[in-house]
Amino acid sequence: MANFRVHVLGAAIPSALAAGLAMAGGLVTPAVGGVCFGLGVLGGMLPDIDADNSVPTRIIFGTLAVAAAAAVALALREHTAPWLVALAALAAFAVIRVGLRGFTAWLCVHRGLVHSLPFAALVGAVAVHLAWRSFHLAPTPAWLAGVFLTGGFLIHLVLDELFSVDLVGARMKRPFGTALKLGSRRQWLGTALLYAGVIGLLTVAPPADRFVRDVTSSRTRAAIAATFAGLR
Ligand SMILES: [Zn+2]
Repeated sequence: MANFRVHVLGAAIPSALAAGLAMAGGLVTPAVGGVCFGLGVLGGMLPDIDADNSVPTRIIFGTLAVAAAAAVALALREHTAPWLVALAALAAFAVIRVGLRGFTAWLCVHRGLVHSLPFAALVGAVAVHLAWRSFHLAPTPAWLAGVFLTGGFLIHLVLDELFSVDLVGARMKRPFGTALKLGSRRQWLGTALLYAGVIGLLTVAPPADRFVRDVTSSRTRAAIAATFAGLR
């Protein structure tokens, strides 16, 4: 299994390159390009949220808990007594930090369904919808957001698979084949739901043909070439 640093770097370097190309090609604004980079790095950490005490679990749930506490405090601050606001924020923090984390720990066996190819597709599809519906991005940047998240996720799975081979002894350590998988026979119902969710989300996603056309267009290539020519 690759360690945390390998995962962060492994996702950050290609994400930075890809985000730079997307910005140079005029596909995204610098702000959206920055978010895409962040999503790529997040994708590189996400698969291990099913490992109870992994570093990403602590970072992700810690961040979510702080964000929830801040959101509650902001929402209540106008009409509520300060001590009640503080109490509500504390409660929100505790619910996320302890409750949600306990729930996901109960839900996910490490290297279960979360650590799989269809889950990589699911997080990307969810990101496309959020970017499109909640943040009102055009189809192309919305799809890019999903591609970055799924891309980071896939890099994580590949790194885990690579690191499960003991290069020195040239033998397989136990988890080989558990990282890059299409589902789980033991969790067949969850696997089926996962595929149904991906297919469902993709059928109501913003049109992908515009995205594909934009990414592959000669105009994008020309813009990238012009940016690099300008750098010299
Ligand atoms: Zn992993």
